[in-house]
Parts: sequence; C-alpha cells; structure tokens
Amino acid sequence: MAKHTVLILFLLLQAAFTLHAQEPDSSFFSHPEMNEVNDEADSTLMLVKAIDTIPTQDKYLKIVLFDDHTWDYIELERPDIDTTGLFDDWNIESIHAYRDVKVSDLPEEVDLLLVDSAHHFVAPYVGRRSSTFKYRRGRPHNGIDIPLRVGDTLRSPFDGVVRYVGGGKATGGYGNLVVIRHPNGLETYYGHLSERLVVENDLVVAGDPIGLGGSTGRSTGPHLHFETRYMGKPFDPERVINFDNGTLRDTMLTLKRHYFNVGSHYGMTDAQSKAATSAVYHTVKKGDTLGGIARKYGTTVNAICKLNGISSKKVLRIGQRLRVR
Ligand SMILES: [Zn+2]
Repeated sequence: MAKHTVLILFLLLQAAFTLHAQEPDSSFFSHPEMNEVNDEADSTLMLVKAIDTIPTQDKYLKIVLFDDHTWDYIELERPDIDTTGLFDDWNIESIHAYRDVKVSDLPEEVDLLLVDSAHHFVAPYVGRRSSTFKYRRGRPHNGIDIPLRVGDTLRSPFDGVVRYVGGGKATGGYGNLVVIRHPNGLETYYGHLSERLVVENDLVVAGDPIGLGGSTGRSTGPHLHFETRYMGKPFDPERVINFDNGTLRDTMLTLKRHYFNVGSHYGMTDAQSKAATSAVYHTVKKGDTLGGIARKYGTTVNAICKLNGISSKKVLRIGQRLRVR
C-alpha cells in the first residue's frame, strides 16, 4: 500500500513537471496541489511513466497519458474563494456597479485584505506609466495608462469573478473592456484590449490571462488603461500596485474616503490628499470661455475668478489650468 502511495506521488510529480514544461502560463501554478486521483492502482502502474498531459474543457481537470498507452484524470485544486459580499450590486449589464452609492456613503476608512497564504497576487502588467490618475484636459482620468505591445497578456492580479465584459459602442472610450470583482469588493478594470479572454461570471485565479493588450476605444496607441474601484468609486491604482516592479504595496490596503478623488495620489500625506480632494481643475481648451467653464462645473464666473485671482475679462490661454472648485 505504502509502495503504491509513493508511486502515485512520483507519477503526480512527473505530471506536474510535464505541465510546467508545456504550459508556463497556466494558472495551475497558483494552486499546484492535486486533491484527487483515481487510485485504482494495479501492478501495471508500477512500470508506467507519465509522458504527456492534455487539457479538458474544465481548466481544473487534465488528462495524463502514460507511456503504456493508458491514461487517467488528474484534478487540480479548485480555487477556494470567500464570496461573502462578492455579489453585492452584481451587474453584468453595465460597466459600473454600485450606481446608487455616493462617495459620501463610503466608510471613513476601510481595510481590505489583498492576499493571504491561499490567495496570491500576480502583476496584471508591468511597465512605465504614460498617464496617471489625475484631471486630464479638464476631465478625470480614472486610472493609469501603461503602454504595451498589441497582444501582450494581461492578468488578473487577484482571485475573482468577471463582472463585466464589453466593447464597441457599449463601452465608449474604454474600447474592449473587462471588469473583475475580487472577493474583498475591489474591482479592477482593463481597457483598450485587442482580445477579451474571459466572459461574464468566469471564475479567475490570480495570474489568469483575462485579455490581450490593444488600442481599441479612445486610444492614441496600444496601452492598458487600468482602474481600481471600490464600491464603484475609482482611486489611484498605485496605492495597490507598484507597476515599476510588479509588486504589491502591502498585503493590506487601507482605503480612506478622501482617496476617492482624482486629485488624491499615492505618496501624498493625508493632509495633501484631503486638500486635493476639495480642489478641481480645468485645463483651458480652444473655444473655452469662463462662462462655458462655469456652466460645465456648475459654478459661476465670479467664483472661478476668485479661486484663481483673475479678472472676469482675462483672456484665457489654451493649456492654462484653472481651479474651478
Ligand atoms: Zn487611460
């Protein structure tokens, strides 16, 4: 009996190495333990070697082939995801969930556990940012941009469930878009994809490929537009991930209410973040007038002039930044 157990372990190890050699991208390696085998081992098993594995429709079930032309199933450990609260405001029809939640409804501070011994982190993509979380041309840029090559693989940073997949007119500037909901309530967004590799309600494990980089939607060149949202509200993704080296900032993420503003960045003190949260800027474009800007932001010409210390007769320069709130 003990002999059989040792032999089965040996065969499984061989199968694991075969998988490794063939599928370096497989999520299998986040959960390499195999929890079930057909152990109807007989004497012929003593002599056979695992020579290949074949994927099945079920990504957690593989067929292993032996050199005596027999085969068996190996079942990989399925992800164990705590789904408490995971499906709150679940919505696969629209890009953003939690439509009725306002920033003021969020807790003053919330701690999100990002990883533990069973749930890992894999960088979605590593590279230099071409644009950060900020006001851009007077509009909030709710994520970060990382240039890439069309076809580069993008991965889920944590375990989760695919909440939204869309493209074309439905997603506007985002182009092909995938949104993943993670068990702690965090959502990650991947825009401008050339290919979407998942569908709604797919279960993903950290490291699973979810799409290929592209330039669809409002995009001037191939890049990943990556957002992090909590309760539907965006915050600076750099608070979670160091994109220079693809590491997690910390195992625990503390989100403060004043982070949910494009003026609030990773690296700021709380005082700076709070101050930035109350300030809103507009960058003057061709054709802008003080009256038009005031209407756009729901304020008055007088208020804008006061904030910026300018006269209402001032000629606006294109590219000039005006504080509007
Ligand atoms: Zn972007």
